[in-house]
Order: sequence, then C-alpha cells, then structure tokens
Amino acid sequence: MIKTIKDFELKGKKVLIRCDFNVPIKDGEIKDDNRLKESLKTINYALDQGAKVIIFSHLGRVKTPEDKEKLSLGIVAEKLSFYLNKQVAFPGETRGIKLEDSISNMKDRDVLLVENTRFEDLNEKAESKNDQTLGKYWASLGEIFINDAFGTAHRAHASNVGIANNLSDVGVGFLIEKELINFKKVLESPEKPFSLILGGAKVSDKIGVIENLVHKVDNIIIGGGMAYTFLKAKGYEVGNSLLEEEYIDFCKEMLVKYSDKIILPVDNILAKSIDDELGYYASSDSINEDMMGVDIGDETIANFLEVLSESKTVVWNGPLGVFEHDSFSKGTKEVFKGIVDTGKTIIVGGGDTASAAINLGFKDKITHISTGGGASLELLEGKDLPGIKVLNK
Ligand code: AMP
Repeated sequence: MIKTIKDFELKGKKVLIRCDFNVPIKDGEIKDDNRLKESLKTINYALDQGAKVIIFSHLGRVKTPEDKEKLSLGIVAEKLSFYLNKQVAFPGETRGIKLEDSISNMKDRDVLLVENTRFEDLNEKAESKNDQTLGKYWASLGEIFINDAFGTAHRAHASNVGIANNLSDVGVGFLIEKELINFKKVLESPEKPFSLILGGAKVSDKIGVIENLVHKVDNIIIGGGMAYTFLKAKGYEVGNSLLEEEYIDFCKEMLVKYSDKIILPVDNILAKSIDDELGYYASSDSINEDMMGVDIGDETIANFLEVLSESKTVVWNGPLGVFEHDSFSKGTKEVFKGIVDTGKTIIVGGGDTASAAINLGFKDKITHISTGGGASLELLEGKDLPGIKVLNK
C-alpha cells in the first residue's frame, strides 16, 4: 500500500520532498516555471501542517565541473520564495556541514532547497547510479520522505529510491498521486470504446506500449514519424520520411494480427526537409522519393476524428506531425480540437505531446496531462516505476 502525504503527522517533522524542478533556463532566466507551480500544492500542504520542508531536485545533466555554474538551483530557490511568499533557504550544497547546520537551524514551517542533486554525478555518478552511501546520507537529513517528482519516477536514483530505501515513513505527494489515479483508471477500468493515439518520432519507442495495450484498446490511431514505418510495412514507398528498417517486420506482424484495430494515415503533408516551411500534399500511396511526411493530411484528420467520435476514453502519446513548426501542426491541433469538450476522458502522455497540448491552448480541456514523458510511457508499457515501487512498504 502506497501512502500519500496526507497519511502522515507532519507537525514539527523534517519532511524531505523530492520535486521535479528541472525547468528550462536560458540567459539566467527560467523560461517556463510550470513544474515549479505544480509542486506548490504538496509543499504548501506540508508547510501548513507545520513541517520543516527540505526539498531535493535535479536540474539538467551535470557532466563537467563547468556545468555546475549554469545548473545551480539558486535561481529556482528565488522563484520558489516568490511563489511560497517566504524565504527559501539555499545553502548551495548537496552535502556537508553548511547544509547540515542550515537544516539544524530550521524552525517549523521553514523551507530549504538542497543544491542540484546531479552535482553528485561528478562523484562517479553517485546520484544517477543510486550510490548507497549518498541515499543513506540524504535520508539521514529528515524523518519522512515524500516523492512528488513523477518525471524521474522511472529512474532509480539516490534522491528518490536511495532516500526511500533508508526511511520507513515514505509516500507520494499530490502530483504523483494524481498521475497514479489517472493512469490506473484508464489502464484498469477504461470506459469503452477506448482509443490509443500514437505519434512522435519512432516506432521503437512505442513497441512496449503497443504490445501492452493492443488487447485493451478498441483501436490504435497512428500518426507522426512512426506512421511511415507502418506505411512501408504495408507496401508503400515513403521517400525520405522517418523510417526504422529494423522494425518493418514488427509493423507487418501488427498489421496482420490487428488489421481491424490499427488506423494509419491515408494522406500526408510532405516537405523537402524537416526545416522546410513549405508543405506539399500526397496520399499515402504516392509519396515522392525526395519528400518526407511531416504531418497528417485533411482526409486522415477526418478519418481519425470519425473513429474518435465514438470513443469514451483516449490515451495520446506522441504528436501527429512536426508540431513545433506552425505549418506542420495542423494534424495535432485539429485532432485535439475535435476531441476536447466532448466529455471524453483524455489522458495525454508527457514530453512533446504535453507541450503540444499546452502550446496549442488545450491545457484546461484535457482530463490529465502527465508531467512525465518517460515515466508515463513506462506506465503505459505496464512496467513498475522504481521511484514509486520503493514507496510500497
Ligand atoms: P516523441 O518524443 O517520440 O514523442 O517524438 C516527438 C517528436 O516527433 C517531435 O519533436 C516531433 O516533431 C517529431 N515528429 C512528429 N511527426 C514527425 C514526422 N512526421 N517526421 C519527423 N518527426 C516527427
């Protein structure tokens, strides 16, 4: 049984919270602080209960000592102070006397942010390889551990699995709780018909999801770059479109076994290269050899929406075209537009699909937009996430 933050008496306790503050930073400025805002509910709850809150997070990848300068969490501490309306202590260390002293001086309702956990990766990847000593040390700084970083829950790191292994009072925060409730509902008792929309770059990234869900869903709608390996498997020429030769046989097998479930694009927007702004048009059986498919065409949009009009549950992972370019975002946008405001349960996997949904303005019209790309894919693959499994005590 996994406990949530609400199951603990927090007053006066040192509560370690693993957040995901891996925010984009450019020219010394946070470009998107959504992740910070989403963490506030759990932090504020712990503060309201009278806890001493000690927060851990990673930021980017730290490979050389020079990376430390641009990947300090100092800028996040400032922003967090603003949102919490109280000073967030930031000793700027991942271990040592200064950090320990700052923690001993904390009063109830104080907040402290530990420096970027990945600074410890300069020490033989101690964070990312879940070094036992590091996990034990971090656990020794508190009494209760709350994991609220869904984005890294599919990784066994010292700041999630390591700490949890060394404390008996462990649980999830509100953000992970919401992720688990939403995914559990669609994976275990979806309202039917249930459609899976898959897009994005590669078939190879989605094989586990297809294999795990093909028996549970009523149809699998495929667009994006991955559609072209399926179209090739069907016998069409796909020009310069993304193609994974080694997965053509897998796609052939799927098309034979599940011909009634798999729905592919019948027409496409093509371009000479991914950076081209100009779109051409072709049906799926007449893609020119010097062209690549960059979005689904109008007939495909209509076909997809017709199938989806019946669906009560939709899980979507991967954009249906190169949505980062305005000219090639129509497919993704129109399909979103056609399914929101229809009362369906819509779950959007993290990463690029989440960015597409948010950038295209559908954030408030979707049942759940996951905060974790890799983690949500692994849940859809039916895997246990180590950062969550370890909390089951
Ligand atoms: P993924 O991380 O696998 O979900 O892939 C997302 C990426 O796939 C985005 O950067 C999209 O631009 C890209 N993508 C979507 N459709 C296509 C396509 N037809 N050709 C190339 N890349 C695509």
